[in-house]
Amino acid sequence: LFNRNNPAPNGNVLTIAGSDCSGGAGIQADIKTITLLGSYASSVLTALTAQNTLGVNDTYMVHTDFVMKQLEAVLDDIGADTVKTGMLSWGGIVSRVAKVIEERSLLAVVDPVMVAKGGESLLDKEAHDSLISRLLPQSYLLTPNLPEVEVMTGIEPRTIGEMIEAGRTLQELGARNVLIKGGHLHGDATDILLLGEEEYQLNNQRFDTINTHGTGCTLSSAIATFLAQGYPLKQAVERGKRFVSLAIEKSTPNGRGHGPVNHIQ
Ligand code: PLP
Repeated sequence: LFNRNNPAPNGNVLTIAGSDCSGGAGIQADIKTITLLGSYASSVLTALTAQNTLGVNDTYMVHTDFVMKQLEAVLDDIGADTVKTGMLSWGGIVSRVAKVIEERSLLAVVDPVMVAKGGESLLDKEAHDSLISRLLPQSYLLTPNLPEVEVMTGIEPRTIGEMIEAGRTLQELGARNVLIKGGHLHGDATDILLLGEEEYQLNNQRFDTINTHGTGCTLSSAIATFLAQGYPLKQAVERGKRFVSLAIEKSTPNGRGHGPVNHIQ
């Protein structure tokens, strides 16, 4: 998984997301993940958050024009085999990022980040519409958790059948492939992967840990990395999930930042 035997790192992954100064989620989780897995990470910042393990104290949005300047600077020179989007803050950024993905035919893993685990909003209300109308149709893989599925589809999935139904709705809205993360369900958490018309159930192991802050960011970056390294989507998802499980399992119980990739030994 860690590609230690590969002397030449391969794959070029661009993350477009917000900063989590506590280092557990957001851009910081993305860069750590992409780097650990052996690919090159570039990053476009959309917002800065002032947060720690107790919650998000404040958010400072980067001006859309400056988000675009960062994006052009990276894409005009370094390029990207895959792009991962996380916290996009507000509608203006969502639609312009979506336009760039379309114009440059980028392979995008879209993590529709909306709220932090503590309940703080990470996406402007108006941006929800842009996310659905502009970004979903540009996503190669959409990776929502259950609360995000509910916001986007109006369906609150409680069973595997309802998760599949909601996933199909997201495909009708334009997402090509969908991974619905079932972590918020009680009991065994199962993820649903819809690859075009095919559907798969992927089981998760539950861990008793506090180091789950940023697991969504970590998973979507890991999948984008494996895609950039040439794995087909199903394998990229399976490897991404294995990486997150391993990271959580190896994280120390009293580590800092509460992110899974902070404490890998
Ligand atoms: N991006 C940023 C900047 C965040 O601060 C957070 C959560 O606080 C997230 C994304 C989402 O994190 P998670 O992967 O836990 O859903």
